[in-house]
Amino acid sequence: MDSTSADASASVETSTTTNHPMAPHNDIEAFHQVLRSSRRILALCGAGLSASSGLPTFRGAGGFWRNYDATQLATVRAFKMDAGIVWLFYSYRRHLALKAEPNMGHRALAALARRNMDFLCLTQNVDNLSQRAEHPSSQLKSLHGSLYDIKCSNESCDWIQRGNFDDPFCAALAPASVDMPNGEPLPLLDPYHRVKHIGEDEIPKCPQCKKGIQRPGVVWFGEDLDANMMMDISAWMRAEPIDLMFVIGTSAQVYPAASYIDKARKRGARIVTINPEAEDEAEMYKIKPGDFAFGRDAAECLPILLEPVIGKPDEDGEFGMP
Ligand SMILES: [Zn+2]
Repeated sequence: MDSTSADASASVETSTTTNHPMAPHNDIEAFHQVLRSSRRILALCGAGLSASSGLPTFRGAGGFWRNYDATQLATVRAFKMDAGIVWLFYSYRRHLALKAEPNMGHRALAALARRNMDFLCLTQNVDNLSQRAEHPSSQLKSLHGSLYDIKCSNESCDWIQRGNFDDPFCAALAPASVDMPNGEPLPLLDPYHRVKHIGEDEIPKCPQCKKGIQRPGVVWFGEDLDANMMMDISAWMRAEPIDLMFVIGTSAQVYPAASYIDKARKRGARIVTINPEAEDEAEMYKIKPGDFAFGRDAAECLPILLEPVIGKPDEDGEFGMP
């Protein structure tokens, strides 16, 4: 097809009255046809996937935590300057994510993975909700690590502890794990509420090198992603052509997210974008001929889009086993 993306958006209005050769970008029936004939499927998930589970995205206008720009707390530099405040931020997120539940979006993707061994899901989320939705671990790559992995801050030490769900993580971080009655705001979140400084001596030391202090096992801005994981993903992408790629709840502007979309396209994939802004005027240029875009919440949209493969959920919201 040689149609431009402007033509693609015009087809939304005209397709019902004219016999336009290309289905509109948000036609569910047309998408179902494509899905039925797709075998190798890739997904890239971001914070929007967990939004309806009640987890803040810490991006854009809501990107502040106390009076800190959340992105400024997610750096090695911030941790070196004040490990206590960075740990409070991550402790708060550990506590929130433990209380949250996987939503229908996580469950639908997990069901797709159980039914299609050729589906690989890459997530930028560190909240463990896809894992808790029983997404098969061999088909899930956590690009940015996990809130529940603990590493050593000593760069020459490779100690890592997986699946630490202690809440609070340690005694000094208890203020981040408080549940307020009647939905009252947590004092910790009020920038005018003074927080007792937490010294490095109050944070557990690494049991291996006994020099570094323990830190969250997430990938901070400026840090490299896990090299073995990156190689696994590259190998998967190179192995065979890709039929379809979902881009869910992420603007995919951070490396390597954007490059995965380009690579999947080159491997033949149609791109299907799912997030509330996907059909905004300013986003339409990204929709190439043959692509799909659904400007809806992932938790609401994914069960409908994936229904030909995963079926309808039962009354408990479970898709059952294949
Ligand atoms: Zn260490």
